[in-house]
Amino acid sequence: MAEQRGDERDTGDARESERGAGEARRRSARPEEARAWEGLVTTARRTVSDGLVVGTSGNVSVRVGDTVLVTPSGVPYDRLAPDDVTGVDLDGRQVLGTLVPTSELPMHLAVYRTTGALAVVHTHAVHATAVSTLVNELPLIHYMAAALGGPVRVAPYATYGTDELAENMLRALADRSGCLLRNHGTIAHGATLAQAYDRTAQLEWMCRLWLTASSVPGLAPSLLSREQLTEVEERLRGYGQRG
Ligand code: 13P
Ligand code: ZN
Repeated sequence: MAEQRGDERDTGDARESERGAGEARRRSARPEEARAWEGLVTTARRTVSDGLVVGTSGNVSVRVGDTVLVTPSGVPYDRLAPDDVTGVDLDGRQVLGTLVPTSELPMHLAVYRTTGALAVVHTHAVHATAVSTLVNELPLIHYMAAALGGPVRVAPYATYGTDELAENMLRALADRSGCLLRNHGTIAHGATLAQAYDRTAQLEWMCRLWLTASSVPGLAPSLLSREQLTEVEERLRGYGQRG
């Protein structure tokens, strides 16, 4: 079990009564939440093992009904155990666990409040973060941009964990399932953890592709048109196996 408890950080009488009120709201995890937590921890560990995240950077969430399970702040994912399940309601009030939820709650909750998404993945993937410092939109280097809803925008910089960052992100996400955060990283959402993760990995791959192609001296990569991308969007709807 991860060792740092949010409540242990609290001191003073005012904090004591706040804590009492907070604890009254907390309950134990339902079976479907316990299963979702397992998937969340597996996905969070994968962001590290696949090189999209270093240390405790990044965060992952999954929605179960009106509860959002989130990675705790600053806890290495390999230390997370089944009873570390951490969850908040859609207003950010903690309803499950005692570990402090991710500092990026404003971004995660903003996605759930404004889209039908059921999972969100945030990383500091290196190529995506590099691209976020160079352009306002990832150039259309590959048709997989269609899998994110179109050309991927870069949200203006704001301090991590702030409502301002969440607002900037929401604007960049309009009609998209992923965006870059300037000088910070990626955020992508989906109907499942697997889909949010896959979109993140595709976004990082596209950023790496663009950086690679545009680093050849004297040459500039060819780019796709919006029309070419729209054709792919239609085709992707029928992609893969039937059923
Ligand atoms: P947390 O450890 O609080 O989730 O923060 C990591 C991060 O990526 C902040 O932007
Ligand atoms: Zn971050």
